[in-house]
Amino acid sequence: MRAAASIEEIVERGLCTGCGACESLLGGEALRMGLSPEGFMRPRRQRPLRGDEQQAVMQVCAGRSQQGAAPVEARPHRIFGPMLHLAKGHATDADIRFRSATGGVLTALAVYLVESGEVDGVLQVGVSADNPLLNEARFNTTREQIVASSGSRYGPSAPLKDIVALLDGGRRFAFIGKPCDVATLRNLALVDPRVDLQIPYMLAMVCGGNPSIAATYNIVRRFGEDHHDVEEFRYRGHGWPGPTYLRTKQGREHSQTYDETWFSNLTYELMFRCKICADGVGEHADVVAGDCWVMEDGKPSHREAGDGWNMHIARTERGRQLIEDAVVAGYIREEAFSVAELEAMHDDHGTKKRSVLWRLAGLALAGQPYPDYGTLRVAQAGLTASWRERWAAFRGTLARSLKRRNRESPIISGTFVPGTKTS
Ligand SMILES: Cc1cc2nc3c(=O)[nH]c(=O)nc-3n(C[C@H](O)[C@H](O)[C@H](O)COP(=O)(O)OP(=O)(O)OC[C@H]3O[C@@H](n4cnc5c(N)ncnc54)[C@H](O)[C@@H]3O)c2cc1C
Repeated sequence: MRAAASIEEIVERGLCTGCGACESLLGGEALRMGLSPEGFMRPRRQRPLRGDEQQAVMQVCAGRSQQGAAPVEARPHRIFGPMLHLAKGHATDADIRFRSATGGVLTALAVYLVESGEVDGVLQVGVSADNPLLNEARFNTTREQIVASSGSRYGPSAPLKDIVALLDGGRRFAFIGKPCDVATLRNLALVDPRVDLQIPYMLAMVCGGNPSIAATYNIVRRFGEDHHDVEEFRYRGHGWPGPTYLRTKQGREHSQTYDETWFSNLTYELMFRCKICADGVGEHADVVAGDCWVMEDGKPSHREAGDGWNMHIARTERGRQLIEDAVVAGYIREEAFSVAELEAMHDDHGTKKRSVLWRLAGLALAGQPYPDYGTLRVAQAGLTASWRERWAAFRGTLARSLKRRNRESPIISGTFVPGTKTS
């Protein structure tokens, strides 16, 4: 295999996850996160980087490897990874359950951790204070702040942008992010022992891929609004899954259903890195939560279903204990949920995982770098793919890389201009 050798190569070959750890490691005078011309959160070089700086980032970057891992305390399921505990559930607090993306389990666990004194705060993503269409990393220490950061933000975010400064500050905190964000933290733990001491809980959401900010601007445009006029924007939540909602400064309101947003003709580019992702189900987290969709005709339905339900998995003993404590303390409520139900409901993640080996083969043949996925069972899952799945994944990725469609702009270029992509 060929791993990327530099930050420039990570970004230009479409392997960057946008987490922001590189800025944190090297400082803002060397690299600064910002929106790229493709609408992703990417580091932009402020000056030439030294060899030791490149190496410091390469050790940690999930675009290069996902070698860092949670302690394996259960035999992994071929697709869904280690499961010490699997259940469906929701926050008991009606307001958290209503406002959150699904059933509010992640928010309720975070609130429990802060209110029980287990941690000083929670590092997570919230809506940017400057622009309701963008996101920013937040260090939240109160229930109100954590609840205000609930909900899914289907756009660029760099939650690890300040991670080194937070570790330097000596705080003990929980982290919530995408599976790739957690993977980077686990990599960081391999070279910085403070991670395991100061971040005792890493929580993740199930993630099918993160779109460009162009998707968000396209939604705004489809509502017939100018992005400058937006005062409030939600992708979902306030119900389950809840509508995509927009309110302008002039008080105009728009909303549409989850399917109208994501399963219509909306143009949205997923990061190339998401297309070759070997872990949408948060294997490196202590706890991961996703949707527990209502099943209709054997398939998940996204229609409005009232109060939300998560399915959640504890990967580690620490995560299992956290869930048990939060249930006992009355923060979340659980019901039984089987592995067979999980397999049927989240088969999209099965398809995705089975395809990775063949996508990487396409990249290898084209001489492109790709991440080292460590213990994520890429080969094991890939060998269970049908011949049709193998060929489609291999051919698609090979063609994409030969046409240079895995490439992104160099890291010294300018920023994204809203309105350059249209639906
Ligand atoms: C890009 C994306 C793709 C997803 N794909 C799937 C999928 O394929 N299948 C599935 O079942 N569920 C998916 N979800 C997860 C789902 O939307 C819920 O987040 C999950 O069910 C947890 O629900 P909750 O009610 O516990 O979350 P909440 O209690 O609402 O908490 C959500 C947490 O996620 C954090 N967060 C939100 N957006 C981001 C972001 N962009 N980056 C980092 N952190 C963020 C928030 O800070 C908050 O802490 C996806 C979410 C995102 C953001």
